[in-house]
Amino acid sequence: MNYRFLSKKGVASFVTGLLKEFRVYGPVKKDGFPMYGEITSPDELHLLHTPTHLSPKHYLFPQRETLLRFKNGENHSIEPTVEAHDQALFGVHSCDIHAIRLMDMVFAYGTPDVNYLKRREKTVIIGIDCLPDKHCFCKSVNTMTVDSGFDLFLHDIGSGFVVEIGTRKGNDLLYKHAKTKKATAGERAKMAEFKNKKAELFITKINAEASTLPLLYSGSYFSPVWEKIGKICYGCGSCNNVCPTCYCFDVRDDVTLNLTEGGRYRVWDGCTLEDFAKVAGGHNFRKTRAERLRHRFNRKFQYQVDKFGGLFCVGCGRCIRTCLVNINIAEVTNELIEETNKDRS
Ligand code: SF4
Ligand code: SF4
Repeated sequence: MNYRFLSKKGVASFVTGLLKEFRVYGPVKKDGFPMYGEITSPDELHLLHTPTHLSPKHYLFPQRETLLRFKNGENHSIEPTVEAHDQALFGVHSCDIHAIRLMDMVFAYGTPDVNYLKRREKTVIIGIDCLPDKHCFCKSVNTMTVDSGFDLFLHDIGSGFVVEIGTRKGNDLLYKHAKTKKATAGERAKMAEFKNKKAELFITKINAEASTLPLLYSGSYFSPVWEKIGKICYGCGSCNNVCPTCYCFDVRDDVTLNLTEGGRYRVWDGCTLEDFAKVAGGHNFRKTRAERLRHRFNRKFQYQVDKFGGLFCVGCGRCIRTCLVNINIAEVTNELIEETNKDRS
């Protein structure tokens, strides 16, 4: 791995360089909250250590996108639509880089999703170190640090940044748009200091090894916890919307009144919503909120692990932060752990 030192001032000229080649999205402050947004100048960046309310997922998998346009009648046609542009995601935290890695697997699985994959191909990822707030628990699910999945990664060491080069593309961009020097051993040691300090700061924790969670969830299918949280859940779908690894969508058609043309689009869906598992005839496979929450949590800690080989919760804490009734996925998991331990004793 190649490490370079970039001064704080140097970051601004680097971003200015990127803006000549890419649409750049990074953390900004909107209505007082940290959010990702498009920037036109480096001054707009708000490189906070704490998490943004929404992840950068929508730059790769938009909340709504047209998949194809069609015309009926004699000259009928079907035109696939792929909207993708060169983009740089700047200041992405380690948990979100892990989430993008998972989404890459999902959208390449089976029939490859050309829309997602085209956008991904045109995306540069520049990560940055972060610190946890009271809801982050990435350390418990092994996503506190990341060693691949980015083009460049910036480690804040106070006097500037140690830049970790992840890909050839990242290397070329850094050399083209920034003045850097080889990071010294002392500067690299500061990266390790930051990591150690970060590891001590977590308030939210899962009280078991990440590798044991699939089995825990498998044994907790009939736990009373699901009824308990199902009673307070609004079924609002906010937890799905903010989650960087939720990728379910619905596909719908828009047709003109005279039925001559239209478009097919997809839009995010959420497994906590009542209609999600409703099928023709009105049957619903997951009628209750308890069943829907159990399904969502199992997707994060068990079902997807069987399919893709890793947990689908990256511990970003966004679903906890956003839930109006304080349903906390880490606390719920800890309750299941406690229940299981009692059961065994
Ligand atoms: S768990 Fe919270 S955020 Fe998710 S659907 Fe229920 S009330 Fe909404
Ligand atoms: S389930 Fe919650 S904590 Fe886990 S990745 Fe999704 S939003 Fe983040």
